[in-house]
Amino acid sequence: MEDYPASAPNSPMNKSKRPTKPAASFRVPIESAGIYAHLASTASQFIGHFKPQAGLMLSDEETALSIPDSILKSSSVAAMLILDGRGVFTRAYAGVDQIEAPPPWNDRPCLIFRSSTLSLAVVAPQPQSTGEAAAGFWSTHPATVDGLLAELLPDRDPASLFPEASTEPMANIHALNCLMSQAQHDSIFEFSLNAAQDKDDLASVLNILKAISAKRRTHDILFVFVEQIASIVKSDRCSVVRIWSNNQYGSVLASHEDETINDRDIELAKYPELNHAMSTREKVAINGENSRNAAPAIVAALKSVGIDALLVIPIVLFDANVGSLFLRALRKKGHFTLREISFLEIVAEAASNALERAHLFESIQIANQRLERLAITDGLTGLYNYRHFKEAIESEFVRAKRYAVPLSILILDIDNFKSFNDTYGHLVGDSVLRELAERSAHLVRKSDLIARYGGEEFAVILPQTGVAGALVEGERIREMVSGRPFRDVPAKVTVTVSIGVGILDHAVMQSVDELIKAADNALYEAKRQGKNRVICQTT
Ligand code: GH3
Ligand code: MG
Ligand code: MG
Repeated sequence: MEDYPASAPNSPMNKSKRPTKPAASFRVPIESAGIYAHLASTASQFIGHFKPQAGLMLSDEETALSIPDSILKSSSVAAMLILDGRGVFTRAYAGVDQIEAPPPWNDRPCLIFRSSTLSLAVVAPQPQSTGEAAAGFWSTHPATVDGLLAELLPDRDPASLFPEASTEPMANIHALNCLMSQAQHDSIFEFSLNAAQDKDDLASVLNILKAISAKRRTHDILFVFVEQIASIVKSDRCSVVRIWSNNQYGSVLASHEDETINDRDIELAKYPELNHAMSTREKVAINGENSRNAAPAIVAALKSVGIDALLVIPIVLFDANVGSLFLRALRKKGHFTLREISFLEIVAEAASNALERAHLFESIQIANQRLERLAITDGLTGLYNYRHFKEAIESEFVRAKRYAVPLSILILDIDNFKSFNDTYGHLVGDSVLRELAERSAHLVRKSDLIARYGGEEFAVILPQTGVAGALVEGERIREMVSGRPFRDVPAKVTVTVSIGVGILDHAVMQSVDELIKAADNALYEAKRQGKNRVICQTT
């Protein structure tokens, strides 16, 4: 296999890649189309202002359109040749009307002026192509400009158009060179300033997104969002407002001044700019002279309450069920710059994505929590169901074994419930089950867990509780049931329960089933001994 060294000094690839040093010329490079436009405008204004001797002006269509008519019609421009790709001689002024130019550059923007006293060429860089041919430049060097003209008008000798010798008044040439250099410097300076600001803005957007994405709850996201905006784009107030269509109230979801503000109602009649944004679904920018999408009445109303500038920017969400959200930022003194407005529009869009995600996350979380609750809840009584009881007792059992701490359970069974149902009906039976659940849930300690164990059976887990405590708890429940009549049951009828107590015997019991069995056995014994009692059989 052949091996090609990556940097073979004479390989053709290497040659084509190596940047070639431009040959010395009297051309000052132009780096970008923006700089070209600025220089072309400076050059045409110079011609309009200094009025050199009448000459020929060549330009592409777009540049020609940007040159004020007053300059084209000035005494300096004897002929205007517009290179529109077809070489059409579009305008002619005094004397020079015979030019037929097949322009070799087609659409490449340029502005060339040639008179007997002044030579000037401004050529834009060609954006797509590469290599030297694409470089833009400007020059006031007569031979360089004539060379260009010879290229553009091959059938014409420029000297024949302007037979007099090209002796430029030095003062004019100096002035032009200074102006062009200054214009170039200004453009580059503005570019670098813009680039620095773009970089700052980008860093701010990233910071906001970073802060937002660290939050999951919608309100946290909104608060961080308005707080960051208020500090980056200095605002006296910054908030996010939700509006439902056809509703005279909106609500402030978050405001930068106060983290606790969440869903605070506002009367929309007092906020005409919000009403307006809601009806047009467009940004409202009240910004002195440049107010956009705002009725004069709104501008005046805001002015009267001391607000100079106010922006309302829609935050577009796909989910219409959350209402319409708007970012509202205001400044009491001073206006928002166009850059600040577009910054806010960008962050509003970025925030909408985070909000969509948070909203989705919250609804999934709520649905999940509901499902989880349903999965462990008994439908009739609202207590935990058998499944949850089983899981809870298993983990309590493991914990009690590991730390050698006491653990007890109670199993309750309503006495003679079959005949109760037969006498008073199933619905009354259900009501007793519900009321018993309610009463017991209030009675047991916070650390205890009560569940519906089966049909008319309940179970209570008593962590850290030994025999004495379990018996007391069992007795309290038994009395609570038999001591007071039930709502839907005739007062003369006493509902009673039998309770079996199971105590974890660390020396004997190895599995949770043994503990449950102990409680079951005790319950059986309670029934056998005549019901309405608490029984604990320790080994
Ligand atoms: P014991 O004192 O020995 O416990 O007698 P019992 O009649 O309570 O016991 P048994 O196990 O024979 O019957 C339990 C009854 O509980 C049967 C059923 O009618 C009733 N039951 C179980 N679940 C429900 C329920 O959800 N609602 C109603 N109303 N009754 C139920
Ligand atoms: Mg039973
Ligand atoms: Mg029973």
